[in-house]
Amino acid sequence: MSLRCDMIIRDATVLDGTGAPRFQADVAVTGDRIVSVGDLGGMSADREVIATGKVLAPGFIDAHTHDDRAVLCGPECMTCKISQGVTTVVVGNCGISLAPARFGTRPIAPLDLLGDETWWTFDSFGDYAHQLNKQGAEVNTYAMVGHQTLRARVMKNDVERAATDAEIAEMAKLVDESLAQGASGFSTGLYYRPNAHATEEEVIATAASLASHGGIYVTHMRDEGDDVMDSIQETLRIGRGADVPVVISHHKCTMPENFGRSRDTLALIDRLGQDQSVAFDVYPYPAGSTVLMPWRIRQDVKVKVTWSIPHPEMAGKDLREIAEIWGLPEREAAEKLLPAGAIYFQMDEADVQRIMAHPRSMFGSDGLPHDSWPHPRLWGTFPRILGHYVREVKLLSLETAVHKMTGRVAHVFGIKDRGVIRPGAFADLVLFDAEGVRDNATYDNPTAISEGIETVWANGVATWQSGAVTGEKPGKLVTRGK
Ligand SMILES: [Zn+2]
Repeated sequence: MSLRCDMIIRDATVLDGTGAPRFQADVAVTGDRIVSVGDLGGMSADREVIATGKVLAPGFIDAHTHDDRAVLCGPECMTCKISQGVTTVVVGNCGISLAPARFGTRPIAPLDLLGDETWWTFDSFGDYAHQLNKQGAEVNTYAMVGHQTLRARVMKNDVERAATDAEIAEMAKLVDESLAQGASGFSTGLYYRPNAHATEEEVIATAASLASHGGIYVTHMRDEGDDVMDSIQETLRIGRGADVPVVISHHKCTMPENFGRSRDTLALIDRLGQDQSVAFDVYPYPAGSTVLMPWRIRQDVKVKVTWSIPHPEMAGKDLREIAEIWGLPEREAAEKLLPAGAIYFQMDEADVQRIMAHPRSMFGSDGLPHDSWPHPRLWGTFPRILGHYVREVKLLSLETAVHKMTGRVAHVFGIKDRGVIRPGAFADLVLFDAEGVRDNATYDNPTAISEGIETVWANGVATWQSGAVTGEKPGKLVTRGK
């Protein structure tokens, strides 16, 4: 063993990401790798970081993001994640991926969550991968191709119907090509109108090549409310049909009449999961956020507007308030705001906690980085779990919480040598104060920076230090199994 390395982080309380109990150690880094973990009194380094009293964990892997464009647009888009200790983001969720598609006009909702036509310029996934590797990013990116993107491209925006066999064959070919060019999975958003017309058979046929690439299937299910049990069955049938592991996105039970049903959904997932690989992600809030859908407005679910193209001044206001200002019924006010985004207060806290605590869960923010008044999960997810749910509510141990944002995510997505602290792993690291870490973002102040995250390194390079981004871009495209 060399006695000299680039950096030693000394006397840290190490949470290694596996869920194992914390231990006191020094961690040595050379280049982009951890080279040694233990009592390294005999080693010296160009740079020493004294971490006494602080926790050192693997950099957090955000299991569910819509950062496809954010990773390309610089620190102003990624500060929300780096400041929380995130070093890797999983993009291309809910059937929405920036590649492979080029659009001449604003894409249909919900694809426009990623931006207008000026951002849709990648004819192939390879072009996207090339751009990402050429310019670098503040975080590592793990990407999937989205079914809604493929439908909009192949069906030329005529998506309010089932795809023909020829269209399915063309989409399947694009999945195959994208996986060969560095994508790691295939996602659907069967909940959304453009995707809801797709049958189970269409999804299985489109995903035909996934197994040969070792890919993963990730889904925003067709229904998370009354029919959530059927949707879980469908999701798992698709996993079996395509012979691939499955991730259920942002698992939840929506609408007051379904509160408490996570007992049933988790039992069903556990039963079916005895015979096939299934996991799910969850964010730590009882409100969701997506595009504004007037036909889904209900009196008993509060809605807050997150952006509106014709009425940007209404971002941050409750729909009820906007309807009053305009003297319109809420549904008509919602129509007038389109295209727009919204937060829906549609879940039960007890369900959220039950899902978070379940052994199959992992954590993802589902943050929407281009919203003008975003859901606070974009800036607060990981510190909220570590501060509120671990320290205050005591829902989870710190070891388990860190595991669900590091080692478990890497395991489920097949991200090699990340999400753990051990010699040979990539030096994706976060140093934080377990007593002081807390989220500050709220529904009324959604972009407040969290506290307690001290330093973040991706591939051995600091991306966050002393409360500010460093401007470094050490992030790479990471691929399943590589
Ligand atoms: Zn979704």
